[in-house]
Amino acid sequence: MNEFQLIRRYFDRPAPGAVLGVGDDAAILAPTPGMELVVTSDMLVEGRHFFAGVDPESLGHKTLAVNLSDIAAMGARARWATLAIALPEAGEAWLAAFSRGFFALADRFGVDLVGGDTTRGPLTLSVTLIGEVPAGQAVRRDGAQAGDDIWVSGELGGAALAVAWRGGRAPDASFDAIRYAERRLDWPEPRLQLGERLRGLASAALDVSDGLCGDLAHLCERSGVAAELWLSALPCAEALLPLRVRAPALFAAGGDDYELCFTAPRAHRAAIEALSAELGLRLTRVGAAVSGEGVRLLDVPGGTPVFLTHASYDHFR
Ligand code: ADP
Ligand code: MG
Repeated sequence: MNEFQLIRRYFDRPAPGAVLGVGDDAAILAPTPGMELVVTSDMLVEGRHFFAGVDPESLGHKTLAVNLSDIAAMGARARWATLAIALPEAGEAWLAAFSRGFFALADRFGVDLVGGDTTRGPLTLSVTLIGEVPAGQAVRRDGAQAGDDIWVSGELGGAALAVAWRGGRAPDASFDAIRYAERRLDWPEPRLQLGERLRGLASAALDVSDGLCGDLAHLCERSGVAAELWLSALPCAEALLPLRVRAPALFAAGGDDYELCFTAPRAHRAAIEALSAELGLRLTRVGAAVSGEGVRLLDVPGGTPVFLTHASYDHFR
């Protein structure tokens, strides 16, 4: 199988939402009038972002999911993707499983793969995703105000527990906890429906990819506020509850959960709770934006500080 057969077989699919998709020198896209484009890239490198030998179908899912998560965090709708891939060899079973995972998620959210690049090299996957949002309505990081509530979607800590487990340094955890954790790491669910509904409700948002405290610190910096977070409020799966006190960093600083963290005025509490019920998605109030700078983690509202060894993942630390 040569490069062009590989592309045709595994990555050339109809792209009904594009003027021209895979096969030419470049794709042609027609933005919807009145919409702004939202563009993001995220790269996954073997041994850095995922363990060697990971299930290729879940890797196809995750390659797209991490990018969809950024589009969700902007309150946008995902439209088009390109995929740059470096592969050590053209393994057919691997490619078939990878593209199955990728396109299953793309189809769920109406994303067209419109181009990319394919080369031999150490396994590396890079997606560029383009979304659309009504002009002026994107949810940015810089809109939080002192007094806003801080919310988190879904559950935290699972993905970080799986990373620790696979690295052979997990805290004591039940079989159920590990099984749940591995699913959270391998099959992250991008919160696109939530993201779109946060337009007009949230004052600022981002996705939690590197760890809540560290990611929230970026939002605080952009908004010119400080944040107080409550460990006891951080949402976690039943099976992980015993770990929240023993291993707080999993929840407050663990990466890879791809949940949305957002701020909103207190006046929107009821609307956010109603949205949670409507979407069938847990939305939890985990802290408050206050004046000042930095992120403080307390055990309970008004309680004592909890110290972590690190706030979030950093590639160059
Ligand atoms: P060029 O050499 O002009 O950059 P390529 O030969 O690299 O073009 O790619 C041929 C076509 O296949 C282009 O439309 C490109 O966007 C697409 N393509 C290449 N690799 C991928 C991939 N992994 N996924 C989707 N489309 C791809
Ligand atoms: Mg090329």
